[in-house]
Amino acid sequence: MLIDTHIHLDAAEFDGDRDAVMAAARAAGVARFVVPAVEVANFDRVAALSATHADIVHAFGIHPLYVGGARKEDLDVLQERLAQGRAVAVGEIGLDFFGPEFDRITQELYFVEQLKLARRFGLPVVLHVRRAVDDILKHLRRIEVPGGIAHAFNGSRQQADAFIALGFRLGFGGAMTFEGSRRIRSLAATLPMDAIVLETDAPDIPPAWAQGGRNEPADLRRFAEVLAGLRGASPAEIAEATGRNACAVFPALASG
Ligand SMILES: [Zn+2]
Repeated sequence: MLIDTHIHLDAAEFDGDRDAVMAAARAAGVARFVVPAVEVANFDRVAALSATHADIVHAFGIHPLYVGGARKEDLDVLQERLAQGRAVAVGEIGLDFFGPEFDRITQELYFVEQLKLARRFGLPVVLHVRRAVDDILKHLRRIEVPGGIAHAFNGSRQQADAFIALGFRLGFGGAMTFEGSRRIRSLAATLPMDAIVLETDAPDIPPAWAQGGRNEPADLRRFAEVLAGLRGASPAEIAEATGRNACAVFPALASG
């Protein structure tokens, strides 16, 4: 089963043609969509998407690049929403130290508090990790959560193995489609198959064939084909294995 484990379907980029975008993805064989939130302000939108579509599930979380606009009370809102029991994960959360001006202290504060909420509610986490792999691993070793996904993974093999040892899967998508992404392609080719899930991160990270355009969930089928080519497997085998892995992370996907 093809599952897009990371898609921002609520994004404004899809306001004009969301239904058509989803119809195209379903026609391409994408059977489930995991929609993470990025801030309290979009919790209602992602929850409404999953309430009205049987093939969509949602996660609630505060993204590291949104902590600047967040208030401490937002963590209380998050806790209340998680207590309602409908979110399949805490996410999108994490650390992003890409820009020297990024506020590490505030990001770490929100990340740690959200890991504690995931532990408390027994939920996996959807991780945004940029220039912060070792920092993320440090916190995950201290605050044990029931696994999750390191989305758009771009680290070393050693770091990948550390995530896997902590019960995490690694998300691969648009970056894998570039010939020049040698490290990511080599990881996608050689990591244990049960460690890999597919994602688009649409509308972000357009693949090689859509540069300057919009990433769309229908692209997931071609991502599966790219991964199949890298691993010498059939697209059907890739869909089956990555779908099984995604359901292991988010058990609600298997039932929906
Ligand atoms: Zn994202």
